[in-house]
Amino acid sequence: MKKLLITGGAGFIGSNFVHYMLNRYPSYELINLDALTYAGNLENLTAIENNSNYTFVKGDIANKELVTGLFEQRVDAVVHFAAESHVDRSILEPDVFVKTNVLGTQVLLEAAKQFGVQKFVHVSTDEVYGSLGETGFFTEGTPLAPNSPYSASKAGSDLLVRAYHETFGLPVNITRCSNNYGPYQFPEKLIPLIIANALADKPLPVYGDGLNIRDWLYVEDHCSAIDLVLHKGVNGEVYNIGGNNERTNIHIVKTILNELGKPESLIQYVKDRPGHDRRYGIDATKITTELGWQPVHNFETGINETIRWYLDHQAWWKRIQSGEYQEYFAQQYGSR
Ligand code: NAD
Repeated sequence: MKKLLITGGAGFIGSNFVHYMLNRYPSYELINLDALTYAGNLENLTAIENNSNYTFVKGDIANKELVTGLFEQRVDAVVHFAAESHVDRSILEPDVFVKTNVLGTQVLLEAAKQFGVQKFVHVSTDEVYGSLGETGFFTEGTPLAPNSPYSASKAGSDLLVRAYHETFGLPVNITRCSNNYGPYQFPEKLIPLIIANALADKPLPVYGDGLNIRDWLYVEDHCSAIDLVLHKGVNGEVYNIGGNNERTNIHIVKTILNELGKPESLIQYVKDRPGHDRRYGIDATKITTELGWQPVHNFETGINETIRWYLDHQAWWKRIQSGEYQEYFAQQYGSR
Protein backbone atom coordinates (compact mmCIF):
# COMPACT_ATOMS: atom_id res chain seq x y z
CA MET A 1 0.00 0.00 0.00
CA LYS A 2 1.98 2.94 -1.25
CA LYS A 3 -0.26 5.42 -3.00
CA LEU A 4 -3.10 6.91 -0.96
CA LEU A 5 -5.92 9.14 -2.09
CA ILE A 6 -6.90 11.34 0.83
CA THR A 7 -10.07 13.34 0.36
CA GLY A 8 -10.70 16.53 2.35
CA GLY A 9 -7.03 16.79 3.30
CA ALA A 10 -7.17 20.59 3.55
CA GLY A 11 -9.72 20.48 6.38
CA PHE A 12 -9.16 20.09 10.10
CA ILE A 13 -8.72 16.33 10.55
CA GLY A 14 -7.60 15.66 6.97
CA SER A 15 -4.68 18.11 7.19
CA ASN A 16 -3.61 16.66 10.54
CA PHE A 17 -3.74 13.22 8.90
CA VAL A 18 -1.61 14.34 5.92
CA HIS A 19 1.06 15.63 8.32
CA TYR A 20 0.81 12.47 10.41
CA MET A 21 1.16 10.09 7.44
CA LEU A 22 4.03 11.90 5.70
CA ASN A 23 5.88 11.87 8.98
CA ARG A 24 5.15 8.24 9.77
CA TYR A 25 5.41 6.75 6.26
CA PRO A 26 7.92 8.89 4.35
CA SER A 27 7.87 6.49 1.37
CA TYR A 28 4.09 6.71 0.84
CA GLU A 29 2.72 8.89 -1.94
CA LEU A 30 -0.26 11.01 -0.90
CA ILE A 31 -2.76 12.69 -3.20
CA ASN A 32 -4.96 15.20 -1.43
CA LEU A 33 -8.25 15.81 -3.26
CA ASP A 34 -10.08 18.76 -1.78
CA ALA A 35 -12.61 21.20 -3.22
CA LEU A 36 -11.40 24.01 -0.93
CA THR A 37 -14.82 24.93 0.32
CA TYR A 38 -14.89 27.59 3.05
CA ALA A 39 -13.56 24.84 5.41
CA GLY A 40 -10.54 23.89 3.28
CA ASN A 41 -7.39 25.83 4.01
CA LEU A 42 -4.11 25.12 2.24
CA GLU A 43 -2.29 27.14 4.88
CA ASN A 44 -2.69 24.05 7.09
CA LEU A 45 -0.26 22.31 4.74
CA THR A 46 2.39 24.92 3.96
CA ALA A 47 5.04 22.94 5.89
CA ILE A 48 4.75 19.95 3.53
CA GLU A 49 3.58 21.51 0.25
CA ASN A 50 6.98 20.96 -1.38
CA ASN A 51 7.31 17.34 -0.25
CA SER A 52 7.83 15.32 -3.45
CA ASN A 53 5.53 12.56 -2.12
CA TYR A 54 2.63 14.94 -1.72
CA THR A 55 0.30 16.23 -4.45
CA PHE A 56 -2.64 18.55 -4.06
CA VAL A 57 -5.57 18.34 -6.46
CA LYS A 58 -8.33 20.89 -6.22
CA GLY A 59 -11.65 19.29 -7.06
CA ASP A 60 -15.03 18.03 -6.00
CA ILE A 61 -15.42 14.40 -4.93
CA ALA A 62 -18.79 14.41 -6.69
CA ASN A 63 -17.06 15.13 -10.03
CA LYS A 64 -17.01 11.68 -11.66
CA GLU A 65 -14.65 12.59 -14.47
CA LEU A 66 -12.06 14.12 -12.18
CA VAL A 67 -12.25 11.26 -9.68
CA THR A 68 -11.97 8.64 -12.43
CA GLY A 69 -8.92 10.45 -13.82
CA LEU A 70 -7.20 10.20 -10.43
CA PHE A 71 -7.91 6.48 -10.08
CA GLU A 72 -6.60 5.90 -13.61
CA GLN A 73 -3.20 6.99 -12.32
CA ARG A 74 -3.40 4.17 -9.70
CA VAL A 75 -4.69 4.48 -6.18
CA ASP A 76 -3.89 1.73 -3.66
CA ALA A 77 -6.15 2.96 -0.87
CA VAL A 78 -8.59 5.75 -0.08
CA VAL A 79 -9.01 7.59 3.21
CA HIS A 80 -12.18 9.58 2.83
CA PHE A 81 -12.54 12.69 5.03
CA ALA A 82 -14.15 15.14 2.60
CA ALA A 83 -17.53 16.24 3.85
CA GLU A 84 -19.66 19.15 4.79
CA SER A 85 -19.18 18.88 8.54
CA HIS A 86 -20.92 21.67 10.45
CA VAL A 87 -24.30 20.79 12.00
CA ASP A 88 -25.52 24.41 12.13
CA ARG A 89 -24.82 24.87 8.42
CA SER A 90 -26.70 21.64 7.67
CA ILE A 91 -29.79 23.10 9.31
CA LEU A 92 -29.57 26.17 7.07
CA GLU A 93 -28.53 24.42 3.86
CA PRO A 94 -29.11 20.64 3.87
CA ASP A 95 -28.83 20.13 0.10
CA VAL A 96 -25.07 20.61 -0.15
CA PHE A 97 -24.67 18.03 2.67
CA VAL A 98 -26.54 15.44 0.63
CA LYS A 99 -24.57 16.28 -2.50
CA THR A 100 -21.12 16.06 -0.95
CA ASN A 101 -21.63 13.54 1.82
CA VAL A 102 -23.92 11.08 0.06
CA LEU A 103 -23.43 11.58 -3.67
CA GLY A 104 -19.72 12.44 -3.39
CA THR A 105 -19.08 9.29 -1.36
CA GLN A 106 -20.91 7.18 -3.94
CA VAL A 107 -18.76 8.62 -6.76
CA LEU A 108 -15.61 7.65 -4.84
CA LEU A 109 -16.97 4.17 -4.05
CA GLU A 110 -17.82 3.59 -7.69
CA ALA A 111 -14.33 4.56 -8.85
CA ALA A 112 -12.77 2.44 -6.08
CA LYS A 113 -14.86 -0.51 -7.26
CA GLN A 114 -14.08 0.06 -10.93
CA PHE A 115 -10.32 0.34 -10.50
CA GLY A 116 -9.94 -1.89 -7.42
CA VAL A 117 -8.33 -0.65 -4.22
CA GLN A 118 -6.77 -2.52 -1.32
CA LYS A 119 -8.75 -0.47 1.19
CA PHE A 120 -11.41 2.24 1.39
CA VAL A 121 -11.56 3.86 4.83
CA HIS A 122 -14.67 5.96 5.31
CA VAL A 123 -14.25 8.48 8.12
CA SER A 124 -17.60 8.86 9.80
CA THR A 125 -18.90 10.16 13.09
CA ASP A 126 -20.60 9.03 16.29
CA GLU A 127 -23.38 11.51 15.43
CA VAL A 128 -24.94 8.87 13.14
CA TYR A 129 -26.06 7.01 16.30
CA GLY A 130 -28.20 9.94 17.48
CA SER A 131 -28.41 10.93 21.12
CA LEU A 132 -27.79 9.01 24.36
CA GLY A 133 -29.63 9.30 27.67
CA GLU A 134 -27.70 9.71 30.90
CA THR A 135 -26.25 6.21 30.76
CA GLY A 136 -24.88 3.80 28.18
CA PHE A 137 -22.49 4.15 25.26
CA PHE A 138 -22.55 3.86 21.48
CA THR A 139 -21.21 0.52 20.27
CA GLU A 140 -20.77 -0.51 16.65
CA GLY A 141 -24.11 -2.37 17.01
CA THR A 142 -26.09 0.69 18.10
CA PRO A 143 -28.80 1.38 15.49
CA LEU A 144 -28.28 4.46 13.36
CA ALA A 145 -30.68 7.25 14.41
CA PRO A 146 -29.30 10.53 13.07
CA ASN A 147 -31.08 13.73 14.12
CA SER A 148 -29.52 16.50 12.01
CA PRO A 149 -29.23 16.82 8.23
CA TYR A 150 -25.45 16.54 8.77
CA SER A 151 -25.62 13.26 10.67
CA ALA A 152 -28.34 11.92 8.35
CA SER A 153 -26.12 12.59 5.33
CA LYS A 154 -23.18 10.88 7.06
CA ALA A 155 -25.40 7.91 7.96
CA GLY A 156 -26.48 7.73 4.31
CA SER A 157 -22.86 7.60 3.22
CA ASP A 158 -22.08 4.93 5.82
CA LEU A 159 -24.85 2.74 4.42
CA LEU A 160 -23.55 3.14 0.87
CA VAL A 161 -20.07 2.13 2.02
CA ARG A 162 -21.56 -0.93 3.73
CA ALA A 163 -23.55 -1.78 0.58
CA TYR A 164 -20.45 -1.57 -1.65
CA HIS A 165 -18.82 -4.12 0.63
CA GLU A 166 -21.83 -6.45 0.83
CA THR A 167 -22.78 -6.21 -2.84
CA PHE A 168 -19.46 -5.75 -4.62
CA GLY A 169 -16.94 -7.02 -2.07
CA LEU A 170 -15.17 -3.66 -1.86
CA PRO A 171 -12.62 -3.83 1.01
CA VAL A 172 -14.02 -1.10 3.22
CA ASN A 173 -13.93 0.07 6.81
CA ILE A 174 -16.08 2.68 8.49
CA THR A 175 -14.72 4.59 11.47
CA ARG A 176 -17.05 6.49 13.80
CA CYS A 177 -15.20 8.92 15.99
CA SER A 178 -16.30 11.28 18.72
CA ASN A 179 -15.66 15.05 18.67
CA ASN A 180 -12.10 16.01 17.76
CA TYR A 181 -10.09 18.95 19.03
CA GLY A 182 -6.60 20.22 18.29
CA PRO A 183 -4.65 22.37 15.79
CA TYR A 184 -6.16 23.62 12.51
CA GLN A 185 -9.83 23.36 13.52
CA PHE A 186 -11.98 25.87 11.67
CA PRO A 187 -13.00 28.61 14.13
CA GLU A 188 -16.73 28.01 13.75
CA LYS A 189 -16.44 24.90 15.95
CA LEU A 190 -16.82 25.10 19.73
CA ILE A 191 -13.24 25.07 21.05
CA PRO A 192 -11.52 27.43 18.55
CA LEU A 193 -14.60 29.69 18.50
CA ILE A 194 -14.56 30.07 22.27
CA ILE A 195 -10.81 30.71 22.32
CA ALA A 196 -11.01 33.34 19.55
CA ASN A 197 -14.04 35.12 21.03
CA ALA A 198 -12.65 35.07 24.57
CA LEU A 199 -9.35 36.58 23.41
CA ALA A 200 -11.33 39.37 21.71
CA ASP A 201 -13.60 39.79 24.80
CA LYS A 202 -16.60 38.94 22.62
CA PRO A 203 -19.69 37.08 23.93
CA LEU A 204 -19.35 33.30 24.03
CA PRO A 205 -22.53 31.72 22.61
CA VAL A 206 -23.55 28.54 24.46
CA TYR A 207 -26.57 26.57 23.28
CA GLY A 208 -29.47 25.89 25.68
CA ASP A 209 -28.41 25.11 29.25
CA GLY A 210 -24.83 24.26 28.23
CA LEU A 211 -25.22 20.74 29.61
CA ASN A 212 -25.02 18.85 26.31
CA ILE A 213 -22.23 16.30 26.56
CA ARG A 214 -19.62 15.53 23.92
CA ASP A 215 -16.87 12.90 24.10
CA TRP A 216 -13.60 14.63 23.13
CA LEU A 217 -10.56 13.14 21.38
CA TYR A 218 -7.29 14.84 20.45
CA VAL A 219 -7.04 14.87 16.65
CA GLU A 220 -3.68 13.05 16.55
CA ASP A 221 -5.23 10.13 18.43
CA HIS A 222 -7.93 9.99 15.76
CA CYS A 223 -5.19 9.93 13.09
CA SER A 224 -3.39 7.03 14.77
CA ALA A 225 -6.68 5.09 14.94
CA ILE A 226 -7.33 5.63 11.22
CA ASP A 227 -3.75 4.57 10.45
CA LEU A 228 -4.41 1.27 12.29
CA VAL A 229 -7.72 0.71 10.55
CA LEU A 230 -6.13 1.44 7.17
CA HIS A 231 -3.41 -1.17 7.71
CA LYS A 232 -5.09 -3.74 9.96
CA GLY A 233 -8.86 -3.21 9.81
CA VAL A 234 -10.85 -6.32 8.95
CA ASN A 235 -12.73 -5.68 5.70
CA GLY A 236 -16.36 -4.72 6.16
CA GLU A 237 -15.97 -3.83 9.84
CA VAL A 238 -17.01 -0.64 11.62
CA TYR A 239 -14.71 0.75 14.35
CA ASN A 240 -15.81 3.27 16.96
CA ILE A 241 -13.08 5.70 18.09
CA GLY A 242 -13.19 7.69 21.31
CA GLY A 243 -11.12 8.45 24.37
CA ASN A 244 -13.64 8.38 27.27
CA ASN A 245 -13.53 12.13 27.72
CA GLU A 246 -17.14 13.16 28.18
CA ARG A 247 -17.50 16.82 29.10
CA THR A 248 -20.45 19.22 29.10
CA ASN A 249 -20.15 22.15 26.71
CA ILE A 250 -20.21 24.60 29.59
CA HIS A 251 -17.31 22.77 31.25
CA ILE A 252 -15.27 23.21 28.07
CA VAL A 253 -16.12 26.91 27.91
CA LYS A 254 -15.23 27.51 31.58
CA THR A 255 -11.96 25.55 31.21
CA ILE A 256 -10.92 27.81 28.34
CA LEU A 257 -11.93 30.99 30.18
CA ASN A 258 -10.02 29.88 33.23
CA GLU A 259 -6.91 29.06 31.19
CA LEU A 260 -7.05 32.43 29.37
CA GLY A 261 -7.81 34.39 32.57
CA LYS A 262 -11.07 35.74 31.11
CA PRO A 263 -14.33 36.32 33.06
CA GLU A 264 -17.34 33.98 32.97
CA SER A 265 -19.50 37.06 32.33
CA LEU A 266 -18.59 36.61 28.63
CA ILE A 267 -20.78 33.49 28.51
CA GLN A 268 -24.05 34.10 26.70
CA TYR A 269 -26.67 31.34 26.69
CA VAL A 270 -28.50 31.30 23.35
CA LYS A 271 -31.63 29.51 22.09
CA ASP A 272 -30.93 25.80 21.72
CA ARG A 273 -30.08 24.28 18.34
CA PRO A 274 -33.11 22.44 16.87
CA GLY A 275 -32.74 18.65 17.18
CA HIS A 276 -29.70 19.16 19.44
CA ASP A 277 -28.34 15.78 20.57
CA ARG A 278 -28.00 15.68 24.36
CA ARG A 279 -25.17 13.28 24.90
CA TYR A 280 -22.57 11.32 22.91
CA GLY A 281 -20.41 8.66 24.53
CA ILE A 282 -18.27 6.16 22.63
CA ASP A 283 -17.46 2.58 23.57
CA ALA A 284 -14.12 2.03 21.81
CA THR A 285 -13.53 -1.50 23.16
CA LYS A 286 -13.45 -3.06 19.70
CA ILE A 287 -10.62 -0.98 18.23
CA THR A 288 -8.61 -1.14 21.46
CA THR A 289 -8.91 -4.92 21.91
CA GLU A 290 -8.93 -6.04 18.25
CA LEU A 291 -6.46 -3.57 16.72
CA GLY A 292 -4.51 -2.51 19.83
CA TRP A 293 -5.29 1.22 19.54
CA GLN A 294 -4.65 3.45 22.53
CA PRO A 295 -5.05 7.23 22.65
CA VAL A 296 -1.98 8.93 24.10
CA HIS A 297 -3.35 12.41 24.92
CA ASN A 298 -5.25 12.92 28.11
CA PHE A 299 -7.91 15.60 27.94
CA GLU A 300 -6.50 18.00 30.53
CA THR A 301 -3.08 18.24 28.86
CA GLY A 302 -4.57 18.04 25.35
CA ILE A 303 -6.89 20.99 25.90
CA ASN A 304 -4.08 23.08 27.38
CA GLU A 305 -1.81 22.26 24.42
CA THR A 306 -4.65 23.18 22.08
CA ILE A 307 -5.28 26.52 23.78
CA ARG A 308 -1.52 27.20 23.57
CA TRP A 309 -1.55 26.32 19.84
CA TYR A 310 -4.34 28.82 19.12
CA LEU A 311 -2.52 31.45 21.17
CA ASP A 312 0.68 30.82 19.21
CA HIS A 313 -1.10 30.76 15.83
CA GLN A 314 -3.35 33.79 16.07
CA ALA A 315 -2.36 34.91 12.58
CA TRP A 316 -3.68 31.58 11.22
CA TRP A 317 -7.22 31.92 12.59
CA LYS A 318 -7.35 35.69 12.17
CA ARG A 319 -6.71 35.19 8.45
CA ILE A 320 -9.69 32.80 8.43
CA GLN A 321 -11.90 35.27 10.27
CA SER A 322 -10.97 38.02 7.80
CA GLY A 323 -11.34 35.72 4.77
CA GLU A 324 -7.66 36.28 3.79
CA TYR A 325 -6.90 32.54 3.90
CA GLN A 326 -8.90 32.15 0.73
CA GLU A 327 -6.38 34.31 -1.10
CA TYR A 328 -3.60 31.85 -0.30
CA PHE A 329 -4.73 29.32 -2.88
CA ALA A 330 -5.02 32.01 -5.54
CA GLN A 331 -1.46 33.16 -4.81
CA GLN A 332 -0.07 29.63 -4.85
CA TYR A 333 -2.06 28.02 -7.65
CA GLY A 334 -3.67 30.78 -9.71
CA SER A 335 -7.33 31.56 -9.58
CA ARG A 336 -9.51 29.77 -7.06
P1 NAD B 1 -13.70 20.08 7.85
O1 NAD B 1 -15.00 20.75 7.56
O2 NAD B 1 -12.69 20.81 8.66
O3 NAD B 1 -13.00 19.68 6.48
C1 NAD B 1 -13.71 19.14 5.41
C2 NAD B 1 -12.83 19.23 4.17
O4 NAD B 1 -13.53 18.61 3.08
C3 NAD B 1 -12.50 20.66 3.75
O5 NAD B 1 -11.13 20.76 3.44
C4 NAD B 1 -13.36 20.88 2.52
O6 NAD B 1 -12.79 21.78 1.60
C5 NAD B 1 -13.43 19.47 1.95
N1 NAD B 1 -14.63 19.27 1.11
C6 NAD B 1 -15.91 19.62 1.41
N2 NAD B 1 -16.72 19.29 0.37
C7 NAD B 1 -15.93 18.73 -0.57
C8 NAD B 1 -16.18 18.17 -1.86
N3 NAD B 1 -17.41 18.15 -2.39
N4 NAD B 1 -15.15 17.66 -2.55
C9 NAD B 1 -13.89 17.68 -2.05
N5 NAD B 1 -13.58 18.21 -0.84
C10 NAD B 1 -14.60 18.72 -0.11
O7 NAD B 1 -14.09 18.69 8.51
P2 NAD B 1 -13.33 17.85 9.64
O8 NAD B 1 -13.77 18.31 10.96
O9 NAD B 1 -11.88 17.80 9.32
O10 NAD B 1 -13.98 16.40 9.40
C11 NAD B 1 -13.41 15.51 8.43
C12 NAD B 1 -14.24 14.24 8.41
O11 NAD B 1 -14.25 13.64 9.71
C13 NAD B 1 -15.69 14.47 8.02
O12 NAD B 1 -16.09 13.41 7.18
C14 NAD B 1 -16.45 14.40 9.35
O13 NAD B 1 -17.75 13.93 9.16
C15 NAD B 1 -15.59 13.42 10.13
N6 NAD B 1 -15.60 13.61 11.60
C16 NAD B 1 -15.32 14.83 12.14
C17 NAD B 1 -15.28 14.97 13.53
C18 NAD B 1 -14.94 16.29 14.19
O14 NAD B 1 -15.01 16.39 15.41
N7 NAD B 1 -14.52 17.30 13.45
C19 NAD B 1 -15.53 13.85 14.34
C20 NAD B 1 -15.81 12.62 13.74
C21 NAD B 1 -15.82 12.51 12.36
